Amino acid sequence: MPREQIVVGDCPQCQGVNTTCKYNRFESEDLRIDSWEHKCPDCGHRLTTAYRSDDEDTLVEEPMLCPYCGRRAGV
Ligand SMILES: [Zn+2]
Ligand SMILES: [Zn+2]
Repeated sequence: MPREQIVVGDCPQCQGVNTTCKYNRFESEDLRIDSWEHKCPDCGHRLTTAYRSDDEDTLVEEPMLCPYCGRRAGV
């Protein structure tokens, strides 16, 4: 399961520079979940989004692009 985390800086809440961007992918036979998390270790500010292949409401064209910083998950 791919899992990666990078530091993207700039917390919108405390102006800290250690916000991390984390990507996770879960895949089984008929379900795929791409999930993103931005988290600031200084103040705990957290943003998460998950794209599920079985949920049309959350489906986007490019689930491997971070909705917060726009980076593409490495493959
Ligand atoms: Zn913060
Ligand atoms: Zn990001």
